[in-house]
Amino acid sequence: MLIINGSVITFGATPRVIPGGAVYYQDDIILDVGSTAELTRRYPHAERLDATGKVVMPGLICAHTHFYGAFARGMAIPGEAPSNFLEILERLWWKIDQALTLEDCQYSALICLIDAIRHGCTTLIDHHASPNAIDGSLDAIAEAVRQAGVRASLCYEVSDRHGEAGARAGIAENARFIRWLQQNPQPLLGASFGLHASLTLSEETLAACVAEARALGVGLHIHVAEDMADQRDCLKKHNMRVVERLEKFGVLGPQTIAVHCVHVDGYERETLRATRTHVTHQPRSNMNNAVGVADVPDMLHRGINVALGNDGFSNNMFVEMHVAYLLHKLHARDPRIMPADQVMRMAFANNARLARLFWDRPLGALEPGAAADIILLDYHPFTPLTDGNFPWHIIFGMDGSQVTHTICNGQMLMCDRRLLTLDEAAIVARARELAKAVWQRVAAM
Ligand SMILES: [Zn+2]
Repeated sequence: MLIINGSVITFGATPRVIPGGAVYYQDDIILDVGSTAELTRRYPHAERLDATGKVVMPGLICAHTHFYGAFARGMAIPGEAPSNFLEILERLWWKIDQALTLEDCQYSALICLIDAIRHGCTTLIDHHASPNAIDGSLDAIAEAVRQAGVRASLCYEVSDRHGEAGARAGIAENARFIRWLQQNPQPLLGASFGLHASLTLSEETLAACVAEARALGVGLHIHVAEDMADQRDCLKKHNMRVVERLEKFGVLGPQTIAVHCVHVDGYERETLRATRTHVTHQPRSNMNNAVGVADVPDMLHRGINVALGNDGFSNNMFVEMHVAYLLHKLHARDPRIMPADQVMRMAFANNARLARLFWDRPLGALEPGAAADIILLDYHPFTPLTDGNFPWHIIFGMDGSQVTHTICNGQMLMCDRRLLTLDEAAIVARARELAKAVWQRVAAM
């Protein structure tokens, strides 16, 4: 397929804008990128997709999400409004997740994947919880991912919230799914070993998870110091800080994803850097839960690979970029903090680096040899769009609602805003029935 006449934003090692640009891909891989004149000469017989008046860029990556949370939209939380992070967990998320069946898990994922495809997000790193439907839950989600045609890495969040049996079942689900994937590799699926957070993990469970993950040769995916409550709990029970505890158990390392890291001090950030642990930043979630602001500028300055996720918020990663751009300026009361090009490096280069944990081929770039994950957007710049200023166009002018075409691994998932792999009306209708039943079970808890 030859995409022609677009404003191509390449990203990759040397991001550039090619006006009247073209991208040629065959099967699942990009083979050539250049001007339309050049590429039409080189590939005269290729099938063509005209991108006149559109921007062409790599599919977006979400470095941390929760497919299981979709049915929370619009749900009234029984009782008084939660006044802090622990109450939000106890009154909302730890009730919703308990109410989920395997079918709920699958439809919740399908709903998120429709949203992702519509907004140009082709790769998602998920973190799943369904304490009353653990066994087989990752298969149910994997089936949704297979139907959608996106890339996703899955894990089950192990926790001691439901006693020893619950923790054991979570460990078993991670191990079973990882082993299955290792024996039956799927081009679009990846897996890591999921852990909830230090505050719900005993010494025994933490040690068992690390031993299992090591034996399987995979990294871990865990929430780290999202709220001060995680640090307070760790100091009280273990007389050390969260990152120190995780380091002691061997959780950290170049394959591990540490989510949030809002309340980590300089020593902990240095440990994250030294262990080459990936960190993910989810500003919308942090603001919504009022947990605080992660010192992302410092972590980036230290050379930590800070990637951008959405923590279950809408799969419109453009909005996450806009919020990341704004939040740190206000927090620091300094308009120079977190310039748009830094946000772009986080959302593209750093997310692509994190995605390499699961996929061999480069993602997040339009360059020969990269995966054919490509999106087209209706965007008509009324000021010059250049190599130097495209990040500011993305922050101030572009949004996921402008996405018209989504291609993942060479497969067209959305064409002219028509979804080609998922039956949106049927999925939404079934999800609405399932969500109503989930709400009723939550209300009865
Ligand atoms: Zn999360």
